[in-house]
Amino acid sequence: MNEFCIFCKIAKGEIPCNKIYEDKKFLAFLDIQPLNPGHTLIIPKKHFQWVYDVVDQGAYWEVAKKTAHSLVKNLQAEYVMFVTWGLEVPHAHIHVVPRYDNDGHPGFIDFSKKKTISAEKMKEIAERIRKQ
Ligand code: 5GP
Ligand code: ZN
Repeated sequence: MNEFCIFCKIAKGEIPCNKIYEDKKFLAFLDIQPLNPGHTLIIPKKHFQWVYDVVDQGAYWEVAKKTAHSLVKNLQAEYVMFVTWGLEVPHAHIHVVPRYDNDGHPGFIDFSKKKTISAEKMKEIAERIRKQ
């Protein structure tokens, strides 16, 4: 636990999130500034700075895989992109970004194109993804 880290606080339940999945080691929740509806972050509960530092990579990516399949099945995403740069929050996170027809992004995701989605709608989206 890093006391200054916002994702550590989310992992501990000190800051709320729209939860998608949780087990002993990992947590998946909606990004607060989504690039598309259903944009999810997967984090280890323990603080590591970089995705490649995370222990148990197989289990970590398994959560990303299941989330991606749920986005396709339950949100009708055309396909899903994984991004792992981590320039803003220094706690490892995999961005799981669903892509839709005419979603406002070019071939690559344009990280300046955040979507505005109401709190109520975010809750509803999280519920739909959880049906995995
Ligand atoms: P990166 O570090 O990869 O550049 O991006 C960090 C991501 O975390 C951003 O997409 C940002 O919207 C998201 N984020 C930052 N603070 C919070 C928060 O408090 N809650 C949630 N759900 N997402 C956050
Ligand atoms: Zn942390």
